[in-house]
Amino acid sequence: MSILLHIAPDLRANASMGTTANPVLIDRFGRRVDYIRLSITDRCDFRCVYCMGEDMSFLPRDAVLTLEECARLVKVFVSLGVQKVRITGGEPLVRKNALWLLQNISSLPGLREQVMTTNGSQLEQYATALKAAGVHRLNISLDSLDAARFRKITRVGELDRVLRGIQAATAAGFEHTKLNSVLMRGVNDDEAPALVQFAIDNQLDIAFIEEMPLGEVGRHRESSFVSNDETLQRLQDRYTLISSTESSGGPARYWRIPGTTSRVGFISPHSHNFCESCNRVRITCKGELYLCLGQEDKIELMPLLREFPQDNAPLCAAILDAMQIKPKGHDFDLNRAEPAVVRFMSMTGG
Ligand code: SAM
Ligand code: SF4
Repeated sequence: MSILLHIAPDLRANASMGTTANPVLIDRFGRRVDYIRLSITDRCDFRCVYCMGEDMSFLPRDAVLTLEECARLVKVFVSLGVQKVRITGGEPLVRKNALWLLQNISSLPGLREQVMTTNGSQLEQYATALKAAGVHRLNISLDSLDAARFRKITRVGELDRVLRGIQAATAAGFEHTKLNSVLMRGVNDDEAPALVQFAIDNQLDIAFIEEMPLGEVGRHRESSFVSNDETLQRLQDRYTLISSTESSGGPARYWRIPGTTSRVGFISPHSHNFCESCNRVRITCKGELYLCLGQEDKIELMPLLREFPQDNAPLCAAILDAMQIKPKGHDFDLNRAEPAVVRFMSMTGG
């Protein structure tokens, strides 16, 4: 049966008209999806050990959504009630002409926020242009403040460049920039306090992300896994942390440090399941719509984009339909021999 037949005719009509009476995206557990994460490339100038294998092969150009296709997709999602878009990758700033896309997206009526996750390596060059293109906030990944360790974790990255990128973001006027850190035992787990102090000194927020079993990266993740409960304890030895009820609309639990502007967040897919309030879906640079970071349920949007270049109705119908297969939650277990999810985070978009 055609996907178009799964939804009520009036919904299909609304979806194809692109009117303000459009349906919103609600899954079978009643969760409203109003946030998309779009990976605009699988390529990256780093090879972080928890994210990629050493020898990665990347997709050929025609297997990746064009920037026009990305823009069209985001427009369709916004017409279905999506209010927030995160541009990610791979490293989004290695995609040529990414600024064109960002400008295009920020001009969409109905979109509340466009944000980006980046490794910071190109920010010195692009921060001002990103601000001008309408990007509201940045998440910048930073796992170590020690240049040699930083190199070891990213395999190729230069810490100084990223630090200059962070400064450039602040100078360009970005506020509430958030650092993302993944800690690994015996690699950088002792750096949690230093990373928090760096965030405080630079008036940034910071979130610690527990390592997730995404893709085969050639290391045994379980032996280096550091739970956020442990990181919190380590931080409590040095700082007074006050649990905060505020949320950024995401899975992080936040704590405040009195006398500072910084928030410390913990994204803990293992120890604290955040699926109940999940409001997001992810789109890979191949146009796959993944309904959950930790499950394989997906639909392919690229064929619909290419088969119906002038008609958004099939796309809208497929997206509405996909809400019916959004899983209840992820199923991460680091002890499995196989990764829970075969695809890399760089493919799905973090
Ligand atoms: N390249 C950009 C960056 O590094 O910020 C954007 C893409 S990256 C895939 C997004 C986020 O995912 C980063 O903060 C990274 O630390 C995180 N990440 C990647 N692989 C992960 C994994 N296996 N478990 C937990 N976080 C991961
Ligand atoms: Fe690249 Fe980001 Fe993955 Fe590191 S985490 S390899 S910077 S995509």
